[in-house]
Parts: sequence; structure tokens; C-alpha cells
Amino acid sequence: MFRPSQRLTTLPTPATIAMAARARELKAQGKPVISLALGQPDFPSPAAALEGAIAQVKAGHTGYPPIPGQKSLLEAIAGKFRRDNGLEVSLDQLMVCNGGKQAIFNAFMASLDEGDEVIVPAPYWVSYPLIARMFGGVPVEVACREEDGFRPQAEAIRTAITPRTRWLVLNFPNNPTGAILERADLEAIAEVLREAPHVMVMSDEIYEHLTFDGRHHLSLLNVAPDLADRILIINGMSKAYAMTGWRVGFACGPVPLIRAMIKVQGNTTSGICTLAQGGSVAALQEDIAGVQAMRETYERRRELVVGALRQIEGLSCALPQGAFYAYPGLSALIGRKSAGGRVLSDDVAFAEALLEEAHVATVPGSAFGYGPHLRLSFAASDAELKEACQRLARFVQGIT
Ligand code: PLP
Repeated sequence: MFRPSQRLTTLPTPATIAMAARARELKAQGKPVISLALGQPDFPSPAAALEGAIAQVKAGHTGYPPIPGQKSLLEAIAGKFRRDNGLEVSLDQLMVCNGGKQAIFNAFMASLDEGDEVIVPAPYWVSYPLIARMFGGVPVEVACREEDGFRPQAEAIRTAITPRTRWLVLNFPNNPTGAILERADLEAIAEVLREAPHVMVMSDEIYEHLTFDGRHHLSLLNVAPDLADRILIINGMSKAYAMTGWRVGFACGPVPLIRAMIKVQGNTTSGICTLAQGGSVAALQEDIAGVQAMRETYERRRELVVGALRQIEGLSCALPQGAFYAYPGLSALIGRKSAGGRVLSDDVAFAEALLEEAHVATVPGSAFGYGPHLRLSFAASDAELKEACQRLARFVQGIT
């Protein structure tokens, strides 16, 4: 009989996936659910990507691919780092993975031993602590304060570092807050890292193109090239290129780490689907204008959503600087009762009641290590966003 391993038993299902699954269930029952739970662009993938995938098939590239990635894609990724980040990287510093998520998995499996600590500034994307725990890692949360714009303070990172620290995770633009790090933030963090040569940095830059108000993403590697042998950049096609289903992510880091990650991947999934790799080459080689057009749409939707949320009494909503999530605070509403009689004891109860009573799927902030908040993705149509905000307003009005 099946008996789950101890490690699996202690591993919760990510709240993002749990909420999306409940939303699908309600939809299947005929309920008019609007799901703002998943970070899934609502745009089609670029036409060039489809052509690139078809070209792979026609060229007969349907056999096992090289584990680190096809040379054409590694070259396109090196070109992306040159064009978008002003960074020169060699092909042996790169690998292609089954989404950015697998790059994180590979890195943690390649480097963590039981009890090793991973510093994760909170709020954080749910998967860092969960994947770290799969390999015996111990997540160490460093709370970012809303009044600091949800940016981690160098001093707090310094305090969290111990001899067991293996990684510091930086994810900017941030999921779920949209916060961006400025040069001064990165310089201060680099200073701390120079004092702690045993700490590696995982810099997840998957939302790099989705920045607002004329801001631009800056990588730690731009600011501190002297730390290159300790910085692993995670990125991928999912968010900027609306290619979530293609499952193409990539990592750029010091050669010994990348070699170790290739070893992990060789023993798990092997190389990535050749069609998806062909599509990714074509998308990366295209003019960046297509990505910029999607960015502009997200920026416009941000105004729509944050504007509507700020009209709702009881919610407070900071303006996200990037990514495609709003992260309103709920503290004024916690402990009260919904119109349907549910006690809103915390943000999980709030998100559940909102889904059951108003059919809007969101994710509670506590899943990201920072509540009581809600995360709403604005990677959805204007009509859905307007309707979702109206439903949320009615739901909040009904709270007693
Ligand atoms: N990193 C962050 C911050 C994310 O939000 C996500 C997806 O939600 C990923 C990485 C992984 O994306 P993928 O595995 O689709 O490349």
C-alpha cells in the first residue's frame, strides 16, 4: 500500500495551486468564478514561438536534447543577457530547465544538506521555502516592512546570516508585492555579502521586464560583478513572453554550480522538450517590442485594479512597482463576519469566504509569509478585473 514519505507529508500544497484547484471545482459546478489566483499571463504566446516550435519538428529535432539545453537556445539566452542586462556570459554558465521552478529545484538539490539555512525575505513566492525543505533546508524568513516598500533591509539580512546559511534568495520585481530593488539597496546587500563569503545568492529575475513608472530592473550582478562566483540568476519564458505552458526556464551562474545543477537534471527530467526550446529561441530573438506591449497593458491594469481597491473601505493597497499582482492589506477586516456568516479569522478564511460567496479566487498573503493580505493577479482581462473588483467591494460591504 502507498505510504507517503515523511518529507512529503510535511510539505503542504502551495496555496496558489490549492486556491486555483478549488476555483476550478466551483467552476465545474457552474459557478461564475473569476480566478485571479494564478500568475498566468492572459496573452497568447508570441506567434514567432509557435513558428519556432514547428521549425524544430520540421528539422527533425525530436530526439533527446542535450541536458543543459540546445546550443541555439543557450546562445539566444546569452544574447538576452547582453541585450537586456548588459552582461556577458559564457555558454557554460547557462542551463535550460523545465521552467524557472526546476532551476530552483536543481540549485537547492545540488547545494543543500540537512539543516542548511536559506534566507527568504518575506513576502516571498511560495515555492522557495517549500523546495528548500524538500532537501532538508531550513527557510529563515526576513520580514520586509510595508513602510520600506517591501524591500529587504541589508541590516536585517546581516542579522539573519549564520554559519549554516547557504543561500540568500532575492526575487525582484517581487511576487507578490511588485517591489523593485534600487541600486542603493543592491549595493547595501552586496556589502553584507562581502562579509559572508559562504553565502550564495539566488536572484530570481523572472519578472524583470514587467516594471512600471519608467523604472528598470537592475540585477545584483550588474552592481556587484565581484560576487559573480556566488550569484545564480533564475529567469524564464513564462511571465514576460506569456509562455507558461512551454515550461522553459533558465539559470545563469558560476560554472561549478551550473555543472552540479546539470547533474541533478540529468538524473531527473533530462533535457527540455525540443519544441519548447525552438519556440523559446524564436521568442528571444524577436524584437522586445512584443514584451513591452504586454508590459504596458499590465501597467494600465495596475491602475484599474489598485484604483478600484483603494475605493474599498477597509482595504489598504500599496502601488506595485512591477510584476502583475496587487497585494492589499486586510487588517481592518480580520475578526469580523462575512454576509454568508463566515468568521474572517485570518486572511485564509477571508480568501475562502471571498471565493465561496463572491466567486473570486485570490491567494491569502499568509501563504507568502506576510498577512493579513490578499494577492490578486492582474494578468486577466479588463472586464474580469472590473467585475472581480466590484464583487470584492460588495463582499467587503457585506462584512459586519
Ligand atoms: N519565480 C517566481 C517569482 C514566480 O512567480 C514563478 C511562477 O509563478 C516562477 C519563478 C516559476 O515560473 P516557471 O516555472 O513557470 O518558469
